[in-house]
This record gives sequence, C-alpha cells and structure tokens, in this order.
Amino acid sequence: MRYISTRGDAPVLGFDDVLLAGLARDGGLYLPETWPRFTTEEIRVMRGLSYPKLAVRIMSTYVGDAISEGDLTKLATESYREFEHPAVAPLKQLDTSLWFMELFHGPTLAFKDYAMQFLGRAFDHVLSKRGARITVVGATSGDTGSAGIEACRDREAIDIFMLYPHERVSEVQRRQMTTVDAANVHTLAVEGTFDDCQDLVKAMFNDMTFRDEMQLSAVNSINWARIMAQIVYYFHAALALGAPDTPVRFSVPSGNFGNAFAAYAAREMGLPVDQLIIGTNVNDILTRFFDSGDLAMATVQRTISPSMDIQLSSNFERLLFDLYDRDGAALADAMKSFRTEGRLSVGDKRWKRVCALFSARRIDDDRTRAEMDRVYRETGDIIDPHSAIGVAAARDARRDLHIPTIALGAAHPAKFPDAVEAACGTFSPLPSRMADLYDRTEKFTVVPNNLGHIQAFVRANAGQGSIT
Ligand SMILES: *Cc1c(COP(=O)(O)O)cnc(C)c1O
Repeated sequence: MRYISTRGDAPVLGFDDVLLAGLARDGGLYLPETWPRFTTEEIRVMRGLSYPKLAVRIMSTYVGDAISEGDLTKLATESYREFEHPAVAPLKQLDTSLWFMELFHGPTLAFKDYAMQFLGRAFDHVLSKRGARITVVGATSGDTGSAGIEACRDREAIDIFMLYPHERVSEVQRRQMTTVDAANVHTLAVEGTFDDCQDLVKAMFNDMTFRDEMQLSAVNSINWARIMAQIVYYFHAALALGAPDTPVRFSVPSGNFGNAFAAYAAREMGLPVDQLIIGTNVNDILTRFFDSGDLAMATVQRTISPSMDIQLSSNFERLLFDLYDRDGAALADAMKSFRTEGRLSVGDKRWKRVCALFSARRIDDDRTRAEMDRVYRETGDIIDPHSAIGVAAARDARRDLHIPTIALGAAHPAKFPDAVEAACGTFSPLPSRMADLYDRTEKFTVVPNNLGHIQAFVRANAGQGSIT
C-alpha cells in the first residue's frame, strides 16, 4: 500500500515511512492511495475473531509488506494483552436499539490507548530494524498525552515531548502525564489553548531544518497509523451486532475528527454503516459544518468535555480530500484560504453528498450532565462527559430505531470526577492499578506560547533518555 498527501505535493510513501513521518512535508495528511475493500463474505468470516486477530486482518491491508504478518500478529497481541476486559472493547445495551462501546479498558482509560499501544510498538519495531531514533512531539487536549506517553515511555529509540494547555485539562488527565517517571518523557504546559498547542506542533513539523535535525514524529491523529488502528473497533462492534448482514450506525463524540474519520474509513472498507452521527460540545465547528456546508473558525470555549475543546479539527482535511475527489491541489488552495480567512465553503453539491452519511449535534454542558444522569438512572452505569455527548447526539439524530446505533464510550468516568459528581451526585473510583495517582510526584515545565522557546527546549532535552 502506498500513501499520498491530502495536499498532493509530498513524496508518496510506504507504510513504515508514513508511520514515522506524521505530517506530510507539504503540510497535508497522509492517506492510503486507495481504500482497501472487503467483500461481504470476507467480512462475514471475521465474526468471532478475537480483537487482536481482527486487528491483524484489518491492519494488514494497510501495512502491506512493511511489517511481516508474523510480526504484525506479535505487535497486535502485545498491544491488547494488558487491557482489562477479555473482549477488549465490550458493548453494553442502553435501550432497545442503542448500544455503548466501552473503549476505556486500556492503560490510560481512554479510547486513545487502542491505537497508541499499537503505535508505540510499531515505532519500536521499525526503528530497531533501521537502527534509527525519533523525537515525538505531540499536542494534547488531555487523553492523547497520557496515552502517547504510556506508549512511548522507556523506549530507547524515542524521546517524547507532549504539549498541553496549561490549566485546561482535568487533574486526572494532567497527573497521568506528569507522574510518569521516565527519562525520555517531557511534559510541557503551554500558556495557551489546545489549538495553540496543535499549531505549535504543526509549526515544528513545517520547519524542515528542525524537523530533519530532530527526526520529528507524531502520535497525534495526524499520524495515519492511529486512524488505521482505530478502524478495528468499528468492525469489532458491528460484527458483534450482526454485520455485514445488518447495517449499523455509530455516534462519535468528536474533537479532532480522528475517531470519526476511522468510522468513515471502516465504511469505505465495506462495513455497512448507514449513518455516522457526530456529537460536539459548544466548540461546534463540525456541527456547524454539517448544518451548513461552511467550515468557519470560532474561539475555543471551556467545557466539561475538555478533550473536545477544539475548533480546528485537523483530521477533517482527510474527509475533505475525498469530498474534493482527491484533488490535492484544489484542497491545498481551499485550506490556504481557510487559514487566511477562517472559513471554507464546500458548495452545495459536496455538502449534500456528505449529509447523506453524516449528521451532527451540538450538546452543551447542561445537556451533557442531563444525559450522564439519565444513563445512570436508567442503567446504573456512570459514563464520562465525552461519552455522554455521543449518547445524547445518538438519541437526537438517529434516523429510526430499526438499525442499531453504537455510541462510543470515549473515556472512563473516573477521569472526570468533578463532572460525574455534578451530574450524578456520586463518584466513580479509579481502577485499583491507578489508585495512588494523587500521591505520585508530578514533573512538568510551564512554557510560553512561543515556537522558538519550545524548539530550544526540545533541542536541549532530546536524547537524554538514551544510553548511548
Ligand atoms: C480524544 C478524545 C476525544 C476526541 O476524539 P477525536 O478523535 O479527536 O475527535 C473525545 N473524547 C475523549 C475522551 C478523547 O480522549
């Protein structure tokens, strides 16, 4: 499989190079040259496969011969071995046709682990074959940080620098990043918003001298391998509910549109997905887009779902690429004017096309709390605020009740104790392996929202974790 950039002006790469590259050199994002497609029969025989086996079946179509099938099997098996549920991504039923996919049984309690545990191991595998090392830089609105750090910690060929918005992530999220005691892990609290952090990371990638000097790589969902690994749980859930012989719907709480794009990719691969519902909080650039066909920037507001406090959904460019019929030059122009003018209109025809599949809903904090309370009263289960946005959007937007809708459980409720307390009047304990999180020592550096400053920090601190 070969990979092309959404802006049409970067080298075409194989899987291993895309894995290490993160962002394409023309500022675009990598996508497979064509979507691999399974027949209905091929999907039917996937029923009953264990999660790691299913992961190999799906990911091998993207990995090609960059990683042998034997090695891929080993990587997938190790990636999901530590997950604390035998089904890895179990389903719970909320009402007659609404299901909830729990994606928080990994080491840092959010769906990010499902891709990140694979990504860290895949990095290691490819780097050790090449005798190379990389510097991972990432921006996080909360959960990417801890999941990325957990996946890269103590790996000899990797340094990881994680930028998060100072005082804008929950305490549990912060502590999960800042209490990891590993010499190759550097946590930076940026005086700015998540969008600022994301811009800083993009700017580091666009500085070619710095990029080459540091061998930059990414664990954000701009990295194709993350999207690829996320496709697996969409198949897993749909197969459990009768696909490919019954269609399904998904409702995805969305910020950067990475998870939602993985659902779209699953559909492109042949999974019968009848509708994709996007839930946003009041940072609703995606909802406004699906309501109007206009992508228009706005300022970020703080909510009780901080991992979705994003107004610039980087992965949306991947969907736009398909909407622009994969014309990289046209999309590069559109993105340029989006950058300068803060808006992008895709036109009526493209908008109608995209609305045939996608629906979106904006769920504010009051409604989010009401949904958390409702699920708790009706089922006895506590769900986190991000997941509640997906559930609420599903209830509002599902087109009928004949087809099962699967809402994504994005994080464990214990990550957001204040929101849980306010909504449900109770609390959800941290799993026992994390019970001492509040007693562990924190280590982080507060930095100004300034590119030069942060680049100097990365230069000065990379390589200290290595033995050589
Ligand atoms: C990352 C994250 C999101 C947003 O996912 P995207 O792929 O960026 O749209 C939502 N909820 C939680 C809990 C997350 O960690």
